[in-house]
Amino acid sequence: MSITIPAGGFDVVIVGSGISGSIIAYQLGKAGKQVLILEGGPPVPKSREDYMQTFFTANAKTPESPYPPTMQGTGSASNPLGQPDPATLNTPRYTVLQINAWQNPAQCYFVYPPQTATRADDPEMTFAFGSSYERVAGGTTWHWLGTSLNHLPNDFQLKTKYGQGVDWPGGAQFYQSLLPYYRKATETIGVSSDKQPMVDLYKTFDVQPDGNYGPNYDFPMPGITPSLNDVLYEDKVTSLKIDNIGLFVTPTPQGRNSQPGKRRQCAGNTNCIPICPIQAKYDGTVTLAEALQTGNVQIQYKTVANNIRLSGDQVSGIDYLTYDSQTGPSTGKGTAVGKRYVLAAHAIETPKLLLMSNGNPGYPNGVANRSDQVGRNLMDHVMYLAWGLSKDPIYAFRGPLSTSGIESVRDGAFRTQRAAYRIEIGNEGWNWATNDPYTTLADFVFGQNNTQLNGDSVNQQGQSLRFDPSLPAFSQLYGSKLVATLNNVYIRQLRLGYLIEQLPDPDNRVQLSSQYKDHLGLPRPQVTYRIRENYVRNGFVSAKAASTEIFQALGATEYTQVPATPVLSGTSPSPTTFQYLGDTFTFYGAGHIIGTYRMGDSATTSVLNARQQSWDHSNLYMVGSGVFPTTATANPTLTIAALALQAADNILADLG
Ligand SMILES: Cc1cc2nc3c(=O)[nH]c(=O)nc-3n(C[C@H](O)[C@H](O)[C@H](O)COP(=O)(O)OP(=O)(O)OC[C@H]3O[C@@H](n4cnc5c(N)ncnc54)[C@H](O)[C@@H]3O)c2cc1C
Ligand code: SF4
Repeated sequence: MSITIPAGGFDVVIVGSGISGSIIAYQLGKAGKQVLILEGGPPVPKSREDYMQTFFTANAKTPESPYPPTMQGTGSASNPLGQPDPATLNTPRYTVLQINAWQNPAQCYFVYPPQTATRADDPEMTFAFGSSYERVAGGTTWHWLGTSLNHLPNDFQLKTKYGQGVDWPGGAQFYQSLLPYYRKATETIGVSSDKQPMVDLYKTFDVQPDGNYGPNYDFPMPGITPSLNDVLYEDKVTSLKIDNIGLFVTPTPQGRNSQPGKRRQCAGNTNCIPICPIQAKYDGTVTLAEALQTGNVQIQYKTVANNIRLSGDQVSGIDYLTYDSQTGPSTGKGTAVGKRYVLAAHAIETPKLLLMSNGNPGYPNGVANRSDQVGRNLMDHVMYLAWGLSKDPIYAFRGPLSTSGIESVRDGAFRTQRAAYRIEIGNEGWNWATNDPYTTLADFVFGQNNTQLNGDSVNQQGQSLRFDPSLPAFSQLYGSKLVATLNNVYIRQLRLGYLIEQLPDPDNRVQLSSQYKDHLGLPRPQVTYRIRENYVRNGFVSAKAASTEIFQALGATEYTQVPATPVLSGTSPSPTTFQYLGDTFTFYGAGHIIGTYRMGDSATTSVLNARQQSWDHSNLYMVGSGVFPTTATANPTLTIAALALQAADNILADLG
């Protein structure tokens, strides 16, 4: 697409066309402002069938498998998955397949410092970061799940209330200022939810019944029908308490159509991650298309922002490199100029761009980085997974990947001692936990026991885990016996996921690798990531105990595997396993990359003020979950959308 510079120049230049960049573009375009988006990835394909085909043919069905650049080629002994060398790609990204290759920069885009811990329970132990993202037009919501929850009032004042982490700027007031934008964000995403369960839930957190959405509000669409799985939990968990808080199940507000609208109705085929084949699920391309339709927004694809220019303390332009093919040479360069600038490249690429922009007088540590906070406080929802088999069929692998959660435990006095979490109820069987349906199939075909269903395994409660006691251990089945066994297993598979909040740690950070570059010659991110605080580790202890109680209440058998003892050095050091209080835990990434250019009350401890405006450069804004001072427990994107809508109003006010 060729760019036409408007007569008065661009009002705003935005880097990134994910949900946050697209929301800003749409709001400003609607208001008649001239906007240019620089998008590092390729354009949205004419048909999503193109991405579906890549997904169908991918050997590993991971969140990133449908999207460019292609993740897998021919394998070899040293590179069994055939992962491309990130040095050969123009827009490499971090993928979940790279986690196990985390200390091999020829297979992993992120570069990690050497492990210095010598014991697996040492809080200084470093890990692979668990979460990934996309570099394509429309961004990472191509493969989000769609969970769309508000943060809670106390999430904004964790320090004041519980003495942990930091407050958001203005604390409780920040929550109040965000409420109208939360409401608009549910409309932008088109969230499906019944209002009453949310009112009931928020009452337990002392939020006035209509406090979240306003008196006459209702969600854009009615809620998605809960799964049979949800109903099982609904009936059984109400007898339980965690830290004196009663459990109950709440249907999850979701960014997918519960009925036909501008997009199709969800068909319930459990493919939301990595890609919804029929776009029943919202993704950033929806808002990007709306932005372009205003006629005031232009976008330049395959255009990687690589430097921010300053004139005095003001941003005067953003330099970029262009390319034609994912692995070809750079084919051009240029500088985009506007009156205001917005960085919306997510929480790894945004700080990388700021840090790369280190040639401006007075800013040797990068743009917007007088505080030395850029890249610091990298966080995620570190997830604990638990899985089991129900007595009666619940017909897993149907419906969206999750339709309900246990939200009542997201806040409480316990937060002085341990991290809070929300509990996501999964509908996708053991897909995430054990890579099923494939692993169970392989176990019963080849006589293996990777799922613990086909051997002599015993769970932590002393129960035998062999699925069919009439069969010998390590059975090899075929024909109708194989089919009947698999069917009986799959329809009973349960999965719980705990989104454990993580505290900001300035040493968890994104820096520039001094050694490794991508194919455009740009430095790759060096990531240091630890889970140092007992606050977070105590969250894992609580999650583990809660799972056992929940599965017992369900009458289910727990299959959660105790991870192998972590290996700290050698050829395959454990990427995400640690020991704590004599127990071994594995964490999983939630896909929620948070906190590397945070907002705050002070220019010395934060990158942005409460308007999401750089303390150092008043014509520079940043959006996305990188602005969050803490993770809270809700999945971040509804809050990202609300904050982007708020930032758009701030930019409009500035532009006058
Ligand atoms: C598996 C998975 C499941 C998830 N599920 C949920 C969920 O259920 N609920 C929820 O709330 N959140 C979920 N998330 C998180 C959600 O996807 C992100 O919060 C959201 O997509 C972030 O939006 P963004 O616009 O800030 O960034 P992105 O969507 O990542 O967009 C960033 C854009 O910037 C572009 N870009 C990057 N670098 C450059 C550069 N140098 N120059 C130009 N362009 C550049 C990229 O190509 C991209 O288009 C999930 C994430 C994952 C990985
Ligand atoms: S369940 Fe299927 S149709 Fe519904 S959002 Fe997920 S992938 Fe799309």
